[in-house]
Order: sequence, then C-alpha cells, then structure tokens
Amino acid sequence: MTTDTKKNVWVFTEQREGTLLPVALELLSEARKIAAALDAQLCAVLFGKDVEPLTKTLAEYGAEQVLVCDAPEFETYQTEPYTQQLYTLVQEHAPEILFLGATHNGRDLGPRLASRLHTGLTADCTQLDVDPETKELWMTRPAFGGNLMATIICPDHRPQMATVRPGVFKAEKQPAARCETVQVPSAVKTADRLTEILRIVKEASSEEDITQARIIVAGGRGLGKAEGFELLQKLADKLGATVAASRAAVDAGWIHPARQVGQTGKTVQPELYIACGISGAIQHLVGMNSSRIIVAINQDPDAPIFKAAHYGLVGDLYQIIPELIKQLD
Ligand SMILES: Cc1cc2nc3c(=O)[nH]c(=O)nc-3n(C[C@H](O)[C@H](O)[C@H](O)COP(=O)(O)OP(=O)(O)OC[C@H]3O[C@@H](n4cnc5c(N)ncnc54)[C@H](O)[C@@H]3O)c2cc1C
Repeated sequence: MTTDTKKNVWVFTEQREGTLLPVALELLSEARKIAAALDAQLCAVLFGKDVEPLTKTLAEYGAEQVLVCDAPEFETYQTEPYTQQLYTLVQEHAPEILFLGATHNGRDLGPRLASRLHTGLTADCTQLDVDPETKELWMTRPAFGGNLMATIICPDHRPQMATVRPGVFKAEKQPAARCETVQVPSAVKTADRLTEILRIVKEASSEEDITQARIIVAGGRGLGKAEGFELLQKLADKLGATVAASRAAVDAGWIHPARQVGQTGKTVQPELYIACGISGAIQHLVGMNSSRIIVAINQDPDAPIFKAAHYGLVGDLYQIIPELIKQLD
C-alpha cells in the first residue's frame, strides 16, 4: 500500500448516463469544509464511460484532484466491478475519509466496500464535522427512530466512511485553485464481473421529483381524506409548486410514496415549504427543516411544526387554503 504524503478526503461522485447526480456536488461542497479543517486534499472519484468532460464541473465545486476510471465496464453501475475498482484505489492511496451519496447505488457500494476494507460506515448522515482536537470525523445521523441525533466516530479504522442522502447539503460552486486529473486504469478482471446487464428498464413514473422543487405544498393527516390533496394541488398550481406529504398521509394511501418528505422519505430544501395539517414530528422535520421559508397551517397552536416555521397560520386548513387561493387569483 502506498500512502500519499498529504491526507486525502474522497468523494465518490456518482454519474448516470454522463450526468453527475446533484448529490455528488452537494457532497463535494461539504467535503471541501472537512478537507480544509484537516488540511487535506479534496479528491473526486469518477467512474464511467466517456466521463472525462465531467471533471471540469468537479473542479468548479472544489475538487483538487479527480481520479477518473473511464472504461466500458463502468458505463452502468454494477456492484462487483465498482467495488473491485474502488477497493483497489483505496488500498493504493489510503484516503482518510470516503463519502458516498446515499443513492440506491451508493447504498449498495458503500457497505460492501466498508466490509471488504474492514472499516465502519455511518449511513444517512445529516451533519459532518471534524473534532478540533483529535481531527476525527464526527458523523451525525438520526437514531432510535429519529428521536435523537447520534454522533458516530471511527477511531481505529480507515477510511472513515459515510453516506449522505441527496438534498441534505447545498451544492455551492467554489473552484479549486488547481485541479489535477489522473486517469486510472481499470483493475477489473473478468472474474469480478459475476453479473451481466441484459437490459435497463426505466420506471415509468408520472410523479414529480420533490427534491428539485422550488416551492412545496405538503399535506399531512390533518387533511383527513385523500381529496384534501386536490385542494393542495389547487394552491400548488397558483404558486407553481409541487405537492408533497407526511408519512401519515402516505400510509393512509392518499398520495404516492415518492412524495413523502422525512427520515424515511426524501430530503427537500425548497425556497418555500407550506406544511398543511402536519404536526411536525422530528422524522418529518429532518426532511424539510433546511427549507428557506417554512409556513405552517395547523389548527393546534401548540403543534411542534410552529417551532420550525417562520410563519404560522392557526386554524382549519379547509378555511385558510381556499382563502389563500382566492387571494392569489
Ligand atoms: C422510524 C420512523 C421513520 C419515520 N419517517 C417519517 C418520514 O419520513 N416522514 C414523516 O412525515 N413521518 C415519518 N415518521 C412518522 C412521524 O413520526 C409522524 O407520525 C408523522 O410525521 C405524522 O404525520 P402528520 O404530521 O401528517 O400527522 P399527525 O401527527 O397526526 O398530525 C396531524 C396534524 O394536523 C392537524 N390538523 C388536523 N386537522 C386539521 C385541520 N382541519 N386544519 C389544520 N390542521 C389540522 C393536527 O392538529 C395535527 O397537528 C416516521 C416515524 C418513525 C418511527
């Protein structure tokens, strides 16, 4: 194993069909702060086919080095070749830290790699910091059903590994002073390719992606019935917003699970989040409390959502929302 003189913080920057996933840039932006605290080099790891043009974007978001593995076997994510390649690179360069997006692929790759490296992995982190004294990575995530936040360290094994869900951090451009691109040869042998992709069938979904919405109107159990979402849609249409929901509304079968916000749903960061008939349970709040402006409509003045909200409207949503729609006409 060779060890670079300067410590490295790595981000596995996932791409699909030649486009970087937003979470890759969100992670780079956050990892830049971690690398600065450790006086370490920030390195993006990029696998794919014909992906070299993406290195420019990675440099714009702070990567000081990009390790590019450009080969046909990396065109589409596959567990074995990706694990083997990343394992080989980690063995060779011994990074201090490795971050991955908690996407379907990241959740497959991360634990498999951690197990092969005999290190730990903290999944679905919502906060990352560096211990000012020991310089260890503090990985914070919800625990015990989201009722408390646990900060986890990995003092005895390297790399320290964490996954972070899309939308938790903000992607902010801050170009690196200099970015070096290093082409890495494929370390994958035929024996590493146990599976073969015959065909990729994309899910035909009419559901909007709530993580990309600028304005969200979200409904909870307080709607009382599935038809309540028709009223929310009317308000959303006026605002150019997307409709989302709490888990209670999803569990009641009133709306598609792709619309769920929260710990077991999606993390959103819109400019405006209007919570209608949502109590503000911690598991919901962790998915939306980074929204720029939060408006809560709830008939219970003591509902916890009002503590998270910038503006609160106390009353029956079936009176307040039609009035809002009228005002917007
Ligand atoms: C491991 C775990 C993971 C979870 N993950 C998630 C998650 O990802 N997302 C999530 O949302 N939850 C999640 N939950 C569930 C969470 O704990 C809450 O149960 C859920 O968020 C409650 O949804 P709600 O606010 O819609 O319903 P309630 O808590 O029942 O709140 C309904 C609110 O509507 C108000 N209301 C009622 N009628 C009206 C009216 N006419 N006008 C105005 N207000 C009205 C009430 O005052 C009340 O505050 C999770 C729980 C666990 C244990």
